[in-house]
Amino acid sequence: MPTNLPQMRQTLPATALVVTLFVTAAAVTQEHVTHPFDHWQDKPGFVLTQQDDIAFLSDLDAQRVTLAIHEISTTRARINQLIDQLGLNDIATPPNTLHVIGFRHVNDLRKAANLIQTRSSALGLYHRPSGVVLYLSPPITEQFREQMYNIGATLLRHETTHQILDQRCQRIARRMPVWLAEGLACYFESNKSVNNARADDIAPTLAAGNFVKTIHDLWSPDAPANLTAEQYAIAWATTNHALHNAPEKLGRYLRALHERPPADFRKHFEETVMTIDESLAHTILTDIRRLACDPPKGE
Ligand SMILES: [Zn+2]
Repeated sequence: MPTNLPQMRQTLPATALVVTLFVTAAAVTQEHVTHPFDHWQDKPGFVLTQQDDIAFLSDLDAQRVTLAIHEISTTRARINQLIDQLGLNDIATPPNTLHVIGFRHVNDLRKAANLIQTRSSALGLYHRPSGVVLYLSPPITEQFREQMYNIGATLLRHETTHQILDQRCQRIARRMPVWLAEGLACYFESNKSVNNARADDIAPTLAAGNFVKTIHDLWSPDAPANLTAEQYAIAWATTNHALHNAPEKLGRYLRALHERPPADFRKHFEETVMTIDESLAHTILTDIRRLACDPPKGE
C-alpha cells in the first residue's frame, strides 16, 4: 500500500504541511527481503537505542530519540487497549520488539526506501516484509519548532499503528480493506480525541456531498492503493464513527476477518457493522464538524 507524496515543502503553515505528508504502509512482495536495519545500523551517525521492546535506530539528537520512543510506546499502549476493547485478545499475538528507523535527512530516507524498493517519495512508511517503520523527523527550525516536531510524531504514530496491528493481529491487518487500515492509522496518528487535521480535510466532501461515493469507491476491488487527502479523511471519519458507536460490532467484524476474508468486504461490513448511506454520512459529518469546532475540554 504505497502512497505517493508531494514534494516536501519548506515554509508552509503547519496545517497545510500535515495534510499532505501522510503515507501508507508500503508492502512490497519480494522473494528476498532486505532488512533496512542491516543497511543502516553501521552508517556513520546512526545510533541504536533499545528500550521498552523498541529498537530505535536513528541519527536524531538524544532529546528527539526520547520523544520518539515515548510516542511509539504510547501508541502501542493505545492499540493494546483497543485490541482489548474490541475483544480480540485471545486471537492476538503477544507484543514483540518494534523496529523503527528515524531519519534526520529526507535524502537518507529516500535512499533507504529505494533499497527496499519502496516508492521513494514517502516520508514515512511501514515496510511489511521486514516489519520495520522508516520515517522522517525533519530538521527543527526555530520558526517552525512545534510544527516540525508534530509532523515527525504524526508520521511515526501513523506508521507504527500499521506495524503494531500487523505484529499483533497479522491476519486481520492483512485482510482488512485499505480504507479501514488507513482509518485506524489516521485515528492513532493523532493523540487528541479528534484528529483535527483530518477533520479539516473533510471540507471538500462537505461542499460536494461526496462522502458516500468516496467511501464506496474505496471499497471497490480496484480501490486505489494511494489515497488522496480527502480519501484518508473519509476513511478516518468512518473508522472514528465505528470505533465510538459500534465497537462490539467492529470487534466481531475483525474477528470474522481473522477466520476468513469475505468475498465482498462492503457487503460484509455493512451487514455486520453499519450501513454507510446518506443518512449515516450526514451524522458522521455533523459530528465531525461539531467536534472539530468544539474539542472536548482537557484535550
Ligand atoms: Zn497508512
